[in-house]
Amino acid sequence: MSPDTGQLALRLAKQIEGSGPISVAEYMRASNGEYYGAGDPFGVEGDFITAPEISQMFGELIGMWLTDLYLRQNSPANCHYVELGPGRGTLAADALRAMSKFEFAPPVHFVETSEALRVQQLQNVPLATFHERVESLPTDGPLLIVANEFFDALPIRQLILTHAGWRERVVVRDRGTKFAAMPGSYPMEGSVPAAFQNSPVGSIFESSPDTAAIMYELSNRIATQGGAILVIDYGYTQPGLGSTLQAVKAHDYADPFLDPGTCDLTAHVNFFELANLARMRNLVVAGPTTQGIFLSALGIGQRALALAEASPDRREDIFTARDRLIKTGEMGTLFKVLAAHAPDWPAPEGFGGPLA
Ligand code: SAH
Repeated sequence: MSPDTGQLALRLAKQIEGSGPISVAEYMRASNGEYYGAGDPFGVEGDFITAPEISQMFGELIGMWLTDLYLRQNSPANCHYVELGPGRGTLAADALRAMSKFEFAPPVHFVETSEALRVQQLQNVPLATFHERVESLPTDGPLLIVANEFFDALPIRQLILTHAGWRERVVVRDRGTKFAAMPGSYPMEGSVPAAFQNSPVGSIFESSPDTAAIMYELSNRIATQGGAILVIDYGYTQPGLGSTLQAVKAHDYADPFLDPGTCDLTAHVNFFELANLARMRNLVVAGPTTQGIFLSALGIGQRALALAEASPDRREDIFTARDRLIKTGEMGTLFKVLAAHAPDWPAPEGFGGPLA
């Protein structure tokens, strides 16, 4: 993809010159808005590959997972399939195909801000309804929500401990299309948990207000309407310090402060916080576990064997894809899986084992 290199950099540079530094969150929001708005970053030719693009097995197993919950809840009426940031729509297409084998064909709702990606999603899932925000999702029945590599793309706020105390990390102009991060001037002690107040100078505390707002709203919905949410992403399971902001371009790490809008800016997802937000609304939380444990428990091994038997010429590719999804050192342990469901819904499959 080739977004208008330099255009966003110029706009942000002018904004900073005119009214002062912007927050890391504001910078990340502007950069990713431009980046995803420009089109399709996925695949071998693009900047990064996500699990559903590696193999159909990923979406199919998630479809089975949703179907299993739905059937054990005695097939409630008016269930909706909801996906946050569906990318190319591949996961949804694979999941819905698997679900349809059990005559489970709920209406599909995509929460997606990129117009360019919406066009592509419609090619894979022609009947999808789009939402700019989670607030407009239907209120008339249970929501079955999937979010794969969604929350890592949302803006994060960073607070940094200086000799003068905690400050928000802000972005200033360096030169050309290059920017730099530095501590802002307002005290931010109030926004750092007590456990981290006395950390070494230079420590960075991250939070994602957008993630919290979305998770809280969806937890509320599930508590009143029924259903469940499945979150898969790279992230951490205990609160911690340190910057996890990174940029990915052409399958390699890049400088997050160079050429905003031309690379994917991501941050690790705080699963501890996601679980707490769900529990605040009295949802029952399963996990977090690892993607390797989750997919193995759902039967990726058997599914790979069945696919290989049906297409012997693709045997090696199928096994390689399975390994990429579940092996330690590949996506198996880096990616975490968390589910939260309404208290009167059954416990989901896939979370049997402890976190590896
Ligand atoms: N789930 C897909 C794509 C992950 S990339 C996959 O696994 O392949 C992140 C996705 O989230 C993209 O579709 C992007 O356009 C979308 N997105 C990013 N920020 C968003 C926001 N604030 N609201 C809705 N969608 C967003």
